[in-house]
Amino acid sequence: MLVGRAYFGILSVDISWAMPDSNQKAKKMVTQAPETKIVDVRRIACDGGEGALGHPRVWLQISSEQGWVECPYCDTKMVHKDFRDVV
Ligand SMILES: [Zn+2]
Repeated sequence: MLVGRAYFGILSVDISWAMPDSNQKAKKMVTQAPETKIVDVRRIACDGGEGALGHPRVWLQISSEQGWVECPYCDTKMVHKDFRDVV
């Protein structure tokens, strides 16, 4: 009797924990959705733009097979214009 009660107690704690956590994750995805930029050069600089997403400028090389590259800092996807319908 006592064991069953204790087990149920743990279970209800786990459920109330998981719900606010998954809500937070969903919010984060909306506010930090990666941007996609169409570019016409294969070598492109990214500094994350203005505000919170800003970062040191990096040069990204778009591979000719893949047609796009992702900025390691701000996750902006640089898509070469020749590949914009493919990606
Ligand atoms: Zn960037």
